[in-house]
Amino acid sequence: MSPAAWVLFAAALVLAALVGSFTCVVIDRMPYQRDEPDEYGDLWGARTWREVVGGRSRCDACDAPVRSTDNVPVLSYLVLRGRCRDCGDRIPAFHLLVELLVPLLFALAFWRYGWSWALLPVAVLIPPAVALAVIDLRTFIVPTRIIWPTFFVEIAVCAAAAGLLGRWDLLLGCVVGLVTFALPLFVIWFIHPRGMGFGDVRLAVLVGWTCGFYADGSLPASGILVAIALFVAAVLGVVVGIGALGARGRKAQVPFGPSIVLGAYLAIVLAAPILGAFGASATGA
Ligand SMILES: [Zn+2]
Repeated sequence: MSPAAWVLFAAALVLAALVGSFTCVVIDRMPYQRDEPDEYGDLWGARTWREVVGGRSRCDACDAPVRSTDNVPVLSYLVLRGRCRDCGDRIPAFHLLVELLVPLLFALAFWRYGWSWALLPVAVLIPPAVALAVIDLRTFIVPTRIIWPTFFVEIAVCAAAAGLLGRWDLLLGCVVGLVTFALPLFVIWFIHPRGMGFGDVRLAVLVGWTCGFYADGSLPASGILVAIALFVAAVLGVVVGIGALGARGRKAQVPFGPSIVLGAYLAIVLAAPILGAFGASATGA
């Protein structure tokens, strides 16, 4: 890369860290604990976006507003050693993890796709996907308030990228990806609704659509790529499940969202070598 390209990349990383910081706000504020489970048995609900973005960040323990100088992504957490400046209570560790994870996932995607239109769909997916995964881990809910807006943005972004690349066939790959990821989960949910939440099916719609963009417009290749993403998600899900059952007993709830997100992300970033093994190519690589 040229020096100018490095400066641009560094600026993009700073932006990704700021977006990661906002992702923390969403993870922190959107879920709220219900007094009793709702009709789906969920103990957590999701606040509206208006409630999420309104007002300043406050300490969970002492309610002191977070100073703007203590709101710098990654650095503030390290300087404060993960504790509130006012009361010394622990700031949840996911703040540091998410503020690092969003730029890291962006950098890996950039390493594969560079400054191309093909970078856009995955770059847009990363922050909401991280938010959904961490919220699912903490609360076992997968808020539709994040999924559907992100899905409609992804439709627009994939359409814009396909148009700018002059490759409308890429959108057919998206449709195949959506069906390949979401249909098996829908069938499992339909047969055994207690085994998996419908939120996981919605999440599969979002990530399947986006993942399908990366198979270079080949419909069989989209199916293969997304089936591999789903397979990886299922394997991860089993591992997480065994861990959760081991740690919390037979009745433990098992979050599937993080596995779905990670499976899809890995398939997108590794689309070129995966599809190369099948004699197919990845979009923009
Ligand atoms: Zn405090």
